[in-house]
Amino acid sequence: MERKYQFSWDLLGDIAQGRPNLGHNTRLEVYRLMQFCIRDVLEQNLGKEKTDNLFYEAGYLAGGEFYKNVLGQQHDFNEFVRSLQKALKEMGIGILRVEKADLDAGSFVVTVSEDLDCSGLPELDYEICVYDEGFIAGLMESFTGRKFKVEEVDCWCTGDRTCRFTAEVVG
Ligand SMILES: [Zn+2]
Repeated sequence: MERKYQFSWDLLGDIAQGRPNLGHNTRLEVYRLMQFCIRDVLEQNLGKEKTDNLFYEAGYLAGGEFYKNVLGQQHDFNEFVRSLQKALKEMGIGILRVEKADLDAGSFVVTVSEDLDCSGLPELDYEICVYDEGFIAGLMESFTGRKFKVEEVDCWCTGDRTCRFTAEVVG
């Protein structure tokens, strides 16, 4: 397939050059506006299941790229977690905590507080952070070389004040 939109980190651009006055920051509402409008339109065109799959896949792609371009190759799990926590906090993505880590079994529970995607949203009857699920799966796979299935089990939107994700090795 001929590609028009294949992702590359260069697409994020030279922000220092391009936005000498406004810099890196924007209002979070703008990010959410784009995300939730894209999700609405995708659902109208493709249905909710396909939309969720696409958000997961996009998050997964982003997680792998984030690992490569922001964190770089990590060799030690604790070091990986520390670098990730620092980057997520500095970039205003969220506050990451690891609640459970069993490297041998490939079984993890992590929480993200003040999450970019959902903190402060009205209560809904479903977890909303599908993109984050994929993002964490992409990160975990990049670090371990194993395939992960990540599921959000608690979310701001379901009444919890933090998002909680399980990550399990599959296959
Ligand atoms: Zn959430």
